[in-house]
Amino acid sequence: MNPEDLRKAWEDFTNNNDFKLNPDKDHVDMIIKGVLENEKKHNLKLCPCRIRDGTREKDLELICPCNFKIHKTWTTPIEGKAQMCWCGLFVKR
Ligand code: SF4
Repeated sequence: MNPEDLRKAWEDFTNNNDFKLNPDKDHVDMIIKGVLENEKKHNLKLCPCRIRDGTREKDLELICPCNFKIHKTWTTPIEGKAQMCWCGLFVKR
């Protein structure tokens, strides 16, 4: 997948949801790069910000987009900061 197709897929994913892509394009570009590198290495679009333990079970939890509404960064964000996924790819609208 090329970077622009991935960005579009993520934008589509945010439709009708209470989150959007981070408006910081450079930050999103950095995450796109990391996810696509992981796809090349591991054949899965794995989160670039979290550590694998090598098990398939854990890998499945790390496929982007993940179930990020369980992350502390979404449930209890630092005061003054937006609710977001762990990597800050998706942020609260
Ligand atoms: S934390 Fe964000 S970037 Fe990482 S997998 Fe989840 S949604 Fe994707």
